Amino acid sequence: MDPLTIGSAQEEPAQEPAPGEPPHGPGPGAGSEPRPLRFTVASRCGPARTGLLQVRGQQIRTPAFMPVGTRAAVKGVEPEALERMGYRLILANTYHLLVRPGPEFIRQLGGLHRFMSWDGAILTDSGGFQAFSLSGLSRISEEGVEFRSHLDGSRHRLTPERTVEVQEIYGSDVIMPLDVCLGLPASREALIEAVQRTTRWLARSVAAWREQDRHALFGIVQGGTEEDLRIAHAQQLAELDLPGYAVGGLSVGEKNEEMHAVAGLTASHLPPHRPRYLMGVGTPEDLVACARQGIDLFDCVLPTRTARTGRLCTRFGDVIIKNARHAADPGPLDPSCSCETCRRYSRAYLRHLFLNRDPLAVRLHTVHNLSYYATLMEEIRRAIEQGEVERFLARFREDRSRWGVRKKG
Ligand SMILES: [Zn+2]
Repeated sequence: MDPLTIGSAQEEPAQEPAPGEPPHGPGPGAGSEPRPLRFTVASRCGPARTGLLQVRGQQIRTPAFMPVGTRAAVKGVEPEALERMGYRLILANTYHLLVRPGPEFIRQLGGLHRFMSWDGAILTDSGGFQAFSLSGLSRISEEGVEFRSHLDGSRHRLTPERTVEVQEIYGSDVIMPLDVCLGLPASREALIEAVQRTTRWLARSVAAWREQDRHALFGIVQGGTEEDLRIAHAQQLAELDLPGYAVGGLSVGEKNEEMHAVAGLTASHLPPHRPRYLMGVGTPEDLVACARQGIDLFDCVLPTRTARTGRLCTRFGDVIIKNARHAADPGPLDPSCSCETCRRYSRAYLRHLFLNRDPLAVRLHTVHNLSYYATLMEEIRRAIEQGEVERFLARFREDRSRWGVRKKG
């Protein structure tokens, strides 16, 4: 018997239409109605695919990475620099903007895009994850999440309806529904409950989604690492024919290999003509592994957060800039990188800035790490287009292990 009492968990993965073939099914806002988001698959290599995501007049080639602008800013880097690196879609956090400066304030200032002077597209998360993890006093019920601000203790309530409303006030191009994300390991019973509540909350989110021609709502698949739950939930949400789908509840304590496998399994049961977004993942290794499994969109604080701690991603492995070996190194951080930082500054200078806590170190490091991610995604797309994903993966792994420092830690 199906754990979620819908469909069969043993069904074959969804059939992929040929590249360029129009998506089947009408979908929200299809036909002559304006649609806030369009997605077409351009090429495939195994389960991996490249595509074109059109949102807010932007043409975003996928697989793509979204920098995280938690409080309406990618820390230390101005929007113009993001544009120069080729980014056209960023993520902002509903929770942080809700507690300060607040949605009504942002509305008065003309919405999130105008407030932060960003012409590109914005995806906002639901805020639920931070309401739990940052607020010491939070309570979850069928109604939603009640919490106190981690800044001033003020009371807030996030229901599925309020979460959609707040993101519509921000003017977000892609909005995420409130969901229940459990840390792993979790019991199967708890995971089933989380999946079922996520589904009930999604139905309320869809009902509260008023401006369907302006904001694209994604569904979020949960289910931990239980394969049958993932498949059943993906199929259940696919029936809603939403503009896109996210794989949530990963990178929360499970092993990396497990996470890649679950992301791939979930992706294979989502509608092939809709974008698939893997939430909050991850390292360069994760991006390559999961793009290979058919994921189209990624976001993670990792490249921006580690940049601020002086950990820099390069083609040949991560560099810890404060290490004494870089003290008198006149060479660039990554000789294969053409970013503004690597073109102009030496390792010795970057280390000097970092040790002196100069804010310029944050900016230069972040520019490099985000450039590295942008270049990596471009290389992944090229490998998929050329049908050489496996060869690319082997070379990527070999290159990344060359300087000895690999995973975060
Ligand atoms: Zn660079």
